[in-house]
Amino acid sequence: MNQTKYVYDLNEGDASLKPLLGGKGANLAEMNRIGVPVPDAFTVTTQACVDTMNNNSEWPEGLREQVEAGLARLEERTGKTLGSVENPLLVSIRSGAVFSMPGMMDTILNLGISDETVGQVAKLADGNERFAWDCYRRFVQMYGEVVEGIEPHVFEDALTEAKEAKGVDNDTDLDAEDLKALTQKFKDLANEALGGHWTTDPKEQLMRAINAVFKSWLNPRAEVYRKSQGISRNLGTAVNVQQMVFGNRGETSATGVCFSRNPSTGEKELYGEFLTNAQGEDVVAGIRTPRDLAEMEAELPEAFHELLATMDKLELHNKDMQDMEFTIEDRKLYMLQTRNGKRTAAAAVKTAVDMVSEGLITKEEALLRINPSDLDALLHDAIDPHETATAIVKGLPASPGAAVGTLSFTADDAAERGKAGEKVILVRYETTPDDIHGVMVAQGVLTAHGGMTSHAAVVARGMGITCVAGAPGIKIDPKAETVTIGGQEYGKGDTLTLNGSTGEVFSGALALVPPKLDENFQQVGEWADAVRRLGVRANAENFEDASKARELGAEGIGLARTEHMFMAADRLPAVRKMILAENEEQRAAALAEILPMQQADFEGIFTAMKGLPVTVRLLDPPLHEFLPNIVDQSVLVKELELTGASEDVLAKERETLAQVKRLHEQNPMLGTRGCRLAMLYPSIPDMQARAIVKAALAVQEREGETVGVEIMIPLVAIAKELEVQRDIVVKAVEEELAAAGKSLDYTVGTMIEIPRAALTANEIAEHADFFSFGTNDLTQTGIGISRDDAEAGFLGHYVEDEVIAKNPFESIDQEGVGQLVQIGVEKGRSTKAELKTGVCGEHGGDPDSIEFFHKVGLNYVSCSPFRVPIARLAAARATLQHG
Ligand code: PEP
Ligand code: MG
Repeated sequence: MNQTKYVYDLNEGDASLKPLLGGKGANLAEMNRIGVPVPDAFTVTTQACVDTMNNNSEWPEGLREQVEAGLARLEERTGKTLGSVENPLLVSIRSGAVFSMPGMMDTILNLGISDETVGQVAKLADGNERFAWDCYRRFVQMYGEVVEGIEPHVFEDALTEAKEAKGVDNDTDLDAEDLKALTQKFKDLANEALGGHWTTDPKEQLMRAINAVFKSWLNPRAEVYRKSQGISRNLGTAVNVQQMVFGNRGETSATGVCFSRNPSTGEKELYGEFLTNAQGEDVVAGIRTPRDLAEMEAELPEAFHELLATMDKLELHNKDMQDMEFTIEDRKLYMLQTRNGKRTAAAAVKTAVDMVSEGLITKEEALLRINPSDLDALLHDAIDPHETATAIVKGLPASPGAAVGTLSFTADDAAERGKAGEKVILVRYETTPDDIHGVMVAQGVLTAHGGMTSHAAVVARGMGITCVAGAPGIKIDPKAETVTIGGQEYGKGDTLTLNGSTGEVFSGALALVPPKLDENFQQVGEWADAVRRLGVRANAENFEDASKARELGAEGIGLARTEHMFMAADRLPAVRKMILAENEEQRAAALAEILPMQQADFEGIFTAMKGLPVTVRLLDPPLHEFLPNIVDQSVLVKELELTGASEDVLAKERETLAQVKRLHEQNPMLGTRGCRLAMLYPSIPDMQARAIVKAALAVQEREGETVGVEIMIPLVAIAKELEVQRDIVVKAVEEELAAAGKSLDYTVGTMIEIPRAALTANEIAEHADFFSFGTNDLTQTGIGISRDDAEAGFLGHYVEDEVIAKNPFESIDQEGVGQLVQIGVEKGRSTKAELKTGVCGEHGGDPDSIEFFHKVGLNYVSCSPFRVPIARLAAARATLQHG
């Protein structure tokens, strides 16, 4: 039987073997292949790590023999031998996963140094004793910590003692004799910690070090990092065993890191740091302050110029910005690592655009270089990347951006202080439509309850206001106006910072950086538009949001939620009157009050969209969002009774309570919503259709542009519902047009947001000109998870424990709910081949979901205005990836 190949020599690999050799191993091999100076090495594959993980941490058969053989070949190529007294080989052992995980796993340097070899190491380094002992003490420390699990403070304390005894501050002030004594001390301490089991055989040390790197794949920080980046733990890490080169051989040696472009700005300029007479970790550990790379030219000119040329060569070869590590040993340059550099969103956009102008990459490649989600950072304020504070709590990233403000506990207070120019964070148990005036002027909103697609989050996202929802464990005392987070109480005068892109909350004011929409950003959008097949529309319900959407590239409005227009405090009474009306007469009066308001809103949207299509959705009010809370109303009546309020007042409030009780539903989300309300009260869709026509005609007249109106019926589950509603709408529209003697381009379609609608889409399509998938409700009803409650609760655990890959309200559940979308499209088109289909749930702005919608053949996605640029880019990438 052929044995699995677990070990690759440096010259056996290349960039294509990244899954097996890890990013570092594959890049080392590739650098070697194209003639960049790299110290000789071999790589133990990710497969070896995976097989070890799957084999109860035992190495698979043949691995040890293959490592031994790899070592023997390395010894032959370098002419040095591990443990040899005459010509000792020293190696580094470094992790290298397929996706880079900077600093997450462990490294061991200088392996091969020992009591036997240290003298020769010094001799070969031109008699530099200090250098040899410095290597040795570092090795004992690293090996002790990483491989043997000895607490770092054991060594740190001894090092501090040695410096104190000598009266010096810096490690570099310790001479050869000091370091020799320190090494002995380190070994004694290690041996003591291990009960006398300190390993001294270098070959055994090598095996144990490789195993320790395997294990570090599963250490907690690596787990956390993987989770945050969506990297699977099944990938495993490779291990690179590489001949040491020494940056700490004196002043003609150095070590450093550099980028081929500035990773914060994307500017093509010299960017890097170095230290002379130092080893790798000194640059990052912060013990000595690294120096600007530019200063290296004066001291090590030849190596410096070779480094510049190498940077260019590597960038040209990899066609991407490189992040590199190098070491100079006695004036000779070696590259230890190169990888595509991590960069800010601004730098990602700038480098992609610049590289197209430089002829390095094509426009299509540029589009594939930019992560659509990263554009969020360019559209909103963000926390300054230099800030290092840790979060006091992490909730749901309900609306992106960053916000700093003093706390406010009621919408009225937030509105008042916000209008007066104060920066406030509105803290609420959950938000209701009543809070809208406070939400609008707040910098950000923090809630203890609610989910990613609850209406509070949807509203905040639409307005571009930062929101962290469902922050677990926070306690709000609205009477005392305090919130307790992690045992600490914050009151009205206190300041918090929210990161709505991650869900993190910080104590105090962190520095923010403003959004940056420059010509590069515009350029990327234009390239994306030229490529994408999916249309991109926005969800918006007023002039300002619609204008913003157009400015950000929306090609129409895919969803104007008419109930959102009712949320303003001055409108709510009329809406309540309409809902609570006891007879058609009362309802007609309330509707007459609402019609002009609706008409004005519609005119705003039609004007902003300048002839682009606008989908107006008829009323879909989860009733409880518009009614007084039943508990509050009961308490109010009780209080009025106890305080002896006048009979008039009491009667009115009792009446309201009776009405609220009458309409109370145990599951309002599954209750009289959407077209169900319209089925009961046809005067509502009738009024809305008339308001739409009046608005469209007024705007056509005023602006001289034709208005493209699409009237959409919500929450249809049964074809008959749509048939009835369509008739009501068409009748009202035609009557209005006839009365005005005008014509209008309009269509009538439906939302598909109930599984039954998707499954019977062939019947529904008979009455529909278009479908728009409401994936918020389709997820809620398809998986059976409340969109308002679940996310901070069990669903959070499901995501955390990987029961489900992603929050299905954030990114569509492709296998389940996605199937409903696919079925809906297929069945709908089986009735009407040209049926236009789109999506207007929050998934319309999520890059992974957009890729899925592209694949199932939707015509367009619709998302909140600030996500339009993300959707344009994601749609273009989907076309490039899937055709
Ligand atoms: C949906 O359900 O996906 C949708 C867009 O409607 P709403 O969020 O208003 O219920
Ligand atoms: Mg819905």
